[in-house]
Amino acid sequence: MPYSNADDARSCSRCPWVRTPVGRCDACGDYLREECGLFGVYGHPEAAALTYLGLYALQHRGQEGAGIVSSDEGNLNAHRGVGLVSDVFKPHRLQRLRGDRAIGHVRYSTFGTSVLKNVQPLPADYSRGSMALAHNGNLVNAATVRDKLEEEGSIFQSTTDSEVIIHLAARSKKDRFVECLADALSQVVGAYSLLATDGDEIVAVRDPMGFRPLWLGRLGGAHIFASETCALDIIDAEWVREIEPGEFVVASKDGLESFKPFPKVPHRYCIFELVYLARPDSVLFGVSVDKVRKQLGRNLARTAPVEADLVMAVPDSSNPAALGYAHESGFPFDMGYIRNHYVGRTFIEPDQRIRDFGVKIKLNPVRSAIEGKRIVLVDDSIVRGTTSRKIIKMLRRCGAKEVHFRVSCPPIIASCFYGIDTPHRDKLIASQHTVEEIREYIGVDTLAYQTIDGLIAATGLTKDHFCLACFTNDYPTALPSDFDVRGQGRRHVDTSMEPYDTSVGLPVVTE
Ligand code: SF4
Repeated sequence: MPYSNADDARSCSRCPWVRTPVGRCDACGDYLREECGLFGVYGHPEAAALTYLGLYALQHRGQEGAGIVSSDEGNLNAHRGVGLVSDVFKPHRLQRLRGDRAIGHVRYSTFGTSVLKNVQPLPADYSRGSMALAHNGNLVNAATVRDKLEEEGSIFQSTTDSEVIIHLAARSKKDRFVECLADALSQVVGAYSLLATDGDEIVAVRDPMGFRPLWLGRLGGAHIFASETCALDIIDAEWVREIEPGEFVVASKDGLESFKPFPKVPHRYCIFELVYLARPDSVLFGVSVDKVRKQLGRNLARTAPVEADLVMAVPDSSNPAALGYAHESGFPFDMGYIRNHYVGRTFIEPDQRIRDFGVKIKLNPVRSAIEGKRIVLVDDSIVRGTTSRKIIKMLRRCGAKEVHFRVSCPPIIASCFYGIDTPHRDKLIASQHTVEEIREYIGVDTLAYQTIDGLIAATGLTKDHFCLACFTNDYPTALPSDFDVRGQGRRHVDTSMEPYDTSVGLPVVTE
């Protein structure tokens, strides 16, 4: 069985109707997940309410926890909780978050449960007052730094890598808060876009390689910070510019200041933000996400053409790529799957016998659109392949004559260590199998992936702007020698639930 029914199993952290002892079910383990979204406001009397709206627009970047820390005359007020933004914040909670500055965070937990102590922004008191920090990304040397700090007597409150930044900043002997932060960040390696406040200032930082996005906006006289432009749009804020890689932007009573304390290094934007993670109505790294995804679909129509009656997407994130394929090929686009957008965390668990219905609760095929058709099905990625296999089986059951699968990114062969939750590489189907073996396993007539050159070309930027490690296994930072052991334990737990059929090395799917 793909899901454990053991008595000690609990609900999947995203699909409460599925029981699993590891916190994430089969369907959720078969997608890459963004870990966090950031939003901040400096200089607006309704800072917390605006931050709430911004986090709402960033909900796709993390659904397991949300928090806001506001500053009222330098005193920090925090409210954090497990769940969706709308679950965590109620009007009376927001009213208590007084002050004209606030930072907020949405989080997707990468291991175990999203316990409250890990929900950000992380607040802390130290010898010079209070601070709070919200972090998007992952530090590859966090375990090493943490061990050293713990040996020297530090006591950690959470299990997040982000807390090491707080400890390092608190120990810094520099004068200004922004300098303490720079001192701390000079000791860590990896991906970080972050917002931090000491109650007086808000500091927005992007790591020198610029893995994760971070925008600066303006609303009247207020300065706004957001992971994506869709969050600026929701409050009608003006897009000012992206915070540059390696840049520290400080919002204070004196206005905005910009620092670049670290040596310049080549940029390494996470290309997966453009392929899958960000909202299509956002602009990141200077390019429109929607435009890139449509171009990825056009590329596939040119490099992997096939005669078909219909182009379909695996909704919703693949819709732009499927539209691009349809425009280029001239075949009609149709909504062959309907996604249920209303599956919430309060779903009543069904009886044990009907519990194992994984993706079906989220996606249902439209039989009248599919029956007797030769179908091009576009998806943005194949991670483990188990979900692809299931959704293709649904098409076959609805009478699809042929199914041709097109994937808008190249084969994923390596895990991400920079803030995207991926299974261990042993569970990535493309790291273990050829395209032909994958085609046979997922049950399609033809299978074609995007090429790396096609992926880069779709962005309009050059290859040297991007991290491509999950497609190339060529990581842009050193990974500490102990990362596999410590990192796997703390950040990259393998949550695959499925037994492996060792004779063919492919996951066994129980229908
Ligand atoms: Fe993005 Fe992949 Fe690089 Fe991770 S390894 S930062 S997912 S491109």
